[in-house]
Amino acid sequence: KAKALGRNKCCFHTKELNRAFKKNLAIEQALRKALEQEEFVLHYQPQYGAGNKQLVGAEALIRWQPRVGPLVSPADFIPLAEETGLIVPIGEWVLRTACSQAADWLQRGLPPFRISVNVSPRQLDESDYAENVLAILGETGLPPQYLMLEITEGVAIREEKETLAKLLPLKQQGVQFAIDDFGTGYSSLSYLMGVQADALKIAQMFINYVPGCPGQAAIVKAIVAMAGSLKLTVIAEGVETEEQFEFLRSQGCHWIQGYYFMKPVTAMEFERLHPISDREEGAV
Ligand code: C2E
Ligand code: MG
Ligand code: MG
Ligand code: MG
Repeated sequence: KAKALGRNKCCFHTKELNRAFKKNLAIEQALRKALEQEEFVLHYQPQYGAGNKQLVGAEALIRWQPRVGPLVSPADFIPLAEETGLIVPIGEWVLRTACSQAADWLQRGLPPFRISVNVSPRQLDESDYAENVLAILGETGLPPQYLMLEITEGVAIREEKETLAKLLPLKQQGVQFAIDDFGTGYSSLSYLMGVQADALKIAQMFINYVPGCPGQAAIVKAIVAMAGSLKLTVIAEGVETEEQFEFLRSQGCHWIQGYYFMKPVTAMEFERLHPISDREEGAV
């Protein structure tokens, strides 16, 4: 009897697994098709200097717009894209699209700013990763110093030395690196020494509770102070309120990104909100 029960259980389990597998397979196929049929779009979220509120950068964030149905958030498909390896071609599309958009803006006289692109660990595993990035920069005409690659803290730690060596050609060309979601991984300090990043993005979870929560405020203060003395650009993301903005500015945080200023928007909306005429007014 017990055996029968066990078998039943096992059957049930297999069925569930099977269902999950089929569902993932369906999503994988849909993602593949989305890439071929150009159903992905990038939204851009601006970053501003904390002191003068001038545009300093923008983060490119992917969304999936299927032919029918609502916009899909990256949280709902990036993990599967990473699992299946599809993140490699998708990530390449993101980089090419973001660089060509930024090059176009730069050429048309939008104030120069840095375009940030998120990189998955899986992409760094590719042996020709740096080569590909340099090729895309060449192709799109974006000067390397205008590109910032965001790597999540903890990602490069596993094979820190290897990853570093792989990224060296990019650093030498002037590509910038930011540690994303800082404070959520491990061994942050040794990591910082090794990775030679240019910027650090304080994880949103720390921003949520400042300045109200003294513990969190102390952590943010310490991160900003440490990053500042390491000469890293400190970026706060997920800043939603005036109080958060004021606190971060007063602590010496350099760049601010968040709904307090603007949600991620389409390229067209971004242009409308950051008119090129700013520059023309300044010119004689
Ligand atoms: P992330 O890189 O940490 O991006 C910041 C996320 O915070 C974005 O979510 C952004 O829309 C959101 N955000 C910005 N300001 C605020 C705010 O004031 N309040 C709140 N509550 N949220 C804010 P999004 O666009 O849904 O992206 C989620 C994550 O998906 C990203 O986190 C990133 O890890 C990943 N992702 C997005 N695009 C790409 C991509 O092209 N490649 C890869 N590999 N990952 C991506
Ligand atoms: Mg990011
Ligand atoms: Mg982040
Ligand atoms: Mg992230």
